[in-house]
Amino acid sequence: MEASSRGNVYVKQNGHWVIASGGYDAGGGVLDSARERGSAIGTTENYNERMVSIQIVLDMNKMQLLPLPFLRNIQGTGQQRKTNESVSSALEKLQFEEYANQYRQFMYCLEFYRSLIKHKSHRISGTVQKHVCNMLEQMTSTAISLELFVPSLKQTLRDVHDCLRDKEQEMIGSKAMRRKHQDMVSNCLVRVSNFQYTQKEEDGTLSLMDLPKECLINILKKLEKPRDIINVALTCSTLEVIAMDTEVWESMCFHHFSDKEICDYVGHMELYSVNWVEVFKFCLKKSKVLKTCYGDELVVCNNCRGVCWRRVGHDCISNEVLPSFTALSPADFLNLLNL
Ligand SMILES: [Zn+2]
Repeated sequence: MEASSRGNVYVKQNGHWVIASGGYDAGGGVLDSARERGSAIGTTENYNERMVSIQIVLDMNKMQLLPLPFLRNIQGTGQQRKTNESVSSALEKLQFEEYANQYRQFMYCLEFYRSLIKHKSHRISGTVQKHVCNMLEQMTSTAISLELFVPSLKQTLRDVHDCLRDKEQEMIGSKAMRRKHQDMVSNCLVRVSNFQYTQKEEDGTLSLMDLPKECLINILKKLEKPRDIINVALTCSTLEVIAMDTEVWESMCFHHFSDKEICDYVGHMELYSVNWVEVFKFCLKKSKVLKTCYGDELVVCNNCRGVCWRRVGHDCISNEVLPSFTALSPADFLNLLNL
């Protein structure tokens, strides 16, 4: 099955539309000449040319100006062909409904919904508002039953609740519908606020504190937020010592900051004398942003410019080129929706 739009030919693969030939125009002359050469010397060369060109335009600033094939849903043929770029069809294709309740993608979807409501609530249709509220309701049930993600979910629900209340007048849809959505989010907030973790029963099985110190350090090194490490330190004196271990904070520094930022502080020091908690404070003061890691995230394929979940993958149009991806943060993805 094929369809063409703006000079690009799309083929349908596993329910997704991807470009079969040609490239995007944002690169200007580079792409145009690449397309001509590509079509003259064969498909493989065409893919290669396009891949190089796309890498040139895959600068994050410029990328926001580019349209994306996976967000373009072409239905029908001939005169009946219509292009639908709605947010709901993009979310449907990327299976947000399914993945938002899975623990790898949960935090990414949560952050996306939070940004969507916070920054674009006045631009989204009633269908998308309904989708977000339904998903938040389902995610509340998931978080409570798994006893995971509850603090983040609570914060998001609070933000969404405040936005729906404060921006009610600007939002699309009837008053009754907007009220219904507010009530749904309020109910979720009440459920999450009343949630309590189940006390672990003394059943003789191993608990966290039975693990050797090295294992506990390795577990703490997987935490990405300094606040989480501080919270662990507050639980008991044993964990306080482990949470303040220099290895944990060294790993935090290299996770969040570049080598250069770290070198600015430790460049003149002997390695054994470095206080990594101080390095962390110094770098944080300078850069003011911490990286966020997700169990899974949306990525743009550099070969076909399709968007997919990194761990789920996709059928790339080019099997000869090794797949390479550019990560999309929830904010990047929101920008691509062009609301
Ligand atoms: Zn691809």
